[in-house]
Amino acid sequence: METSAPPIAPKLALDFNNTAAAFRHRSDKQLARSLFLFQAFQIKPLVKYGPALARWSLDIGLPVRGLMRELFFKQFCGAYTLEGTVELGQSLAKRNVKTVLDYGVEARRTDEGFEACKAEILRQLEHASHHREVAFVALKATGLCSADVLERVQAGATNSMISKQHKHLAERLEAICVKAAEVGIPVLIDAEESWIQEPIDRLAEDLMARYNRERPLVFTTVQLYRQDRLAYLKQLHARGFEKGFKPGVKLVRGAYIEKEAERATRMGYANPLFPSKGLVDVAYDEGARYCLEHLEDFGLFAGTHNEQSCLKIAQWMTANGIAPNHPNVYFSQLYGMGDHITFNLAEAGFNVGKYLPYGPLDDVLPYLFRRAQENSSIQGQSSRELTLLQKEVRRRRKAG
Ligand SMILES: Cc1cc2nc3c(=O)[nH]c(=O)nc-3n(C[C@H](O)[C@H](O)[C@H](O)COP(=O)(O)OP(=O)(O)OC[C@H]3O[C@@H](n4cnc5c(N)ncnc54)[C@H](O)[C@@H]3O)c2cc1C
Repeated sequence: METSAPPIAPKLALDFNNTAAAFRHRSDKQLARSLFLFQAFQIKPLVKYGPALARWSLDIGLPVRGLMRELFFKQFCGAYTLEGTVELGQSLAKRNVKTVLDYGVEARRTDEGFEACKAEILRQLEHASHHREVAFVALKATGLCSADVLERVQAGATNSMISKQHKHLAERLEAICVKAAEVGIPVLIDAEESWIQEPIDRLAEDLMARYNRERPLVFTTVQLYRQDRLAYLKQLHARGFEKGFKPGVKLVRGAYIEKEAERATRMGYANPLFPSKGLVDVAYDEGARYCLEHLEDFGLFAGTHNEQSCLKIAQWMTANGIAPNHPNVYFSQLYGMGDHITFNLAEAGFNVGKYLPYGPLDDVLPYLFRRAQENSSIQGQSSRELTLLQKEVRRRRKAG
């Protein structure tokens, strides 16, 4: 993480309702597109059946590619290629927002695919060393190894093929961390489904034990919608203390709520997630506070679009004399979402990184479909997103 002389207090009072600041970078046309899209997300059957329909249309060659690109891809993705992200990254940097590079290609199936993904991540790290606007590189273990292998490792059902694939994953991650250490760019390892997460956690922790001795370079992800994760966070802290490393943790609520519930029911085990959103919110805030209370030991990367959680973290930092740009605290939102949080936090002087996914349209579809589902959730902040867009459109109309 970048270090700079910390100011004592935020530059401005935080106001997440400031839509002028939130959407300053969007033209009227872009705003109208976002509004249309977020309105469409409120139509439940569209979100439920849309992904299958879109895939089928692409498979049989219906001319929907242009529409998906204009409407969907442009909202949530930075570009098709790494080079294509530069302009966007630089425009974010002008507003004090750093970039988190995220190669959006998921769930590869072949060794060539995993190697290509590793090569792209190494390229991102090299690129980041020449582009100061890039603060982090994010990756998914399932981009480097099949989910099937991870599931079998977690279930303890190994054979020589599984062990070999698992070893290859460890080697790929090792190569990535060697490069990350060389160029000084931290790496965020995403969290995925609970039935494949154990081997990812073990590998991440092993890397942290070796690469995070002076500062958090490798970040693991903790999903606070899981009932066991607060305890895990504290155990990780204790092990870090004992072994002399500083855990880097990306705190998120968790993206696989339906899949987790469906599998637990189908296979007859207790759902590992909290039974209500309220309990998840409490766990998230407690996790963030725990990290802030031990900031000398932790790197905290708060990945959330929840205004209340961001506000609580910011307020707690201010109340406890933690500089808004303390090098061990970053806030982060995904590109195309939570702009009212991102830009208002950045204007107040907090460290903020925007996840900038990129990749070919067909390959980033799973990512795009997750965004659609997330934004149709009435329990989340998504309808808030729509309200803010409507407010900004009205404000601009009035301003002429
Ligand atoms: C920068 C960034 C990085 C991310 N990286 C990852 C990652 O590596 N892995 C990952 O899994 N997700 C990741 N996510 C997605 C994240 O987990 C959430 O799905 C998403 O951000 C919505 O949660 P929220 O904190 O923004 O707030 P909100 O919109 O307030 O919360 C919505 C979330 O609350 C939880 N929830 C809602 N209802 C219930 C319920 N009934 N029971 C239990 N839980 C419930 C779910 O997690 C849901 O996604 C990331 C998000 C961001 C912003």
